[in-house]
Amino acid sequence: MIMFLPHKYCSSYAEIQKGVLYIYRVSRFRSLMFELTYLSKKSHCVYCGRKLRLSFKDSARTLDHMYPEAIGGVTITDNLAICCSSCNSEKRAMTVQEYLTFLSLPKKERSRYAKKVLSSRESIYYSTGFSLPSEWIEYVKTSSIRNVAIAEKRGNLYIKVSKFYEKYKNFPFPVIVDKKGIVLYNYAVYLYAKDKNIKKVPIIRLENVDCKDRKLN
Ligand SMILES: [Zn+2]
Repeated sequence: MIMFLPHKYCSSYAEIQKGVLYIYRVSRFRSLMFELTYLSKKSHCVYCGRKLRLSFKDSARTLDHMYPEAIGGVTITDNLAICCSSCNSEKRAMTVQEYLTFLSLPKKERSRYAKKVLSSRESIYYSTGFSLPSEWIEYVKTSSIRNVAIAEKRGNLYIKVSKFYEKYKNFPFPVIVDKKGIVLYNYAVYLYAKDKNIKKVPIIRLENVDCKDRKLN
C-alpha cells in the first residue's frame, strides 16, 4: 500500500523526498508515525469536529488508532486519526464504524452498546485474527522478508505472538515492511514465523517507504 505522507519531513532519523519516506533509524518507527500524522492531518477532532488546542485539557490533541490495537490495528499514518481526548477515551477499542453507531444511539443506550461490542471483541479477535482492510494485507513467504535493523529480542511481544498462534493458528497483527521487504515494525510476528518455520506471514508492505537503516540497534 501507499502510506499517507505529508509533503515535507526531515529529521536525523527520517526524511521525505519526492513522496518517499527514507528511514535511517527503524527504532523510531512508532514515534515517527505519530509525528507524520500530526504534520499531515488537520487540527480538528475527526469525530466531533471541535478545534483542538493544546492548552485546554478536554480538547488536547490525541491520536486514535482507527482500527484499534485491540484487534491488531497497526501504527501507520493511515490508521491514525487526530481527535480530542474526550472522543478518544469515549471511543476506547471500538472501530470507527462501531463508534459512529454508538454516537447515533440515544445517550441512555450507549453504554450497553459499548459493553456488548467490547466484550465480544476478544472472542472475535481470537477466532479470526486481526481485522484490517484486506487491501492492506499480503501473505508472503517468510523467507522473502528481512530484518536488518531490529535486534532479535524475544520479549513480551514475542510471547504474545507465540501464545496467540499456538492457540488459534493466527497472527495477532501483520508485520510492517518497507518496499523491499525489510521489517519496520511488529517484528515479533516475523521472528516467531522464522523460529517455527511457518512458511507464510501476513505483512503490510509500505511501497513509498525505503529503509536505509543497516545497523542493528
Ligand atoms: Zn472530539
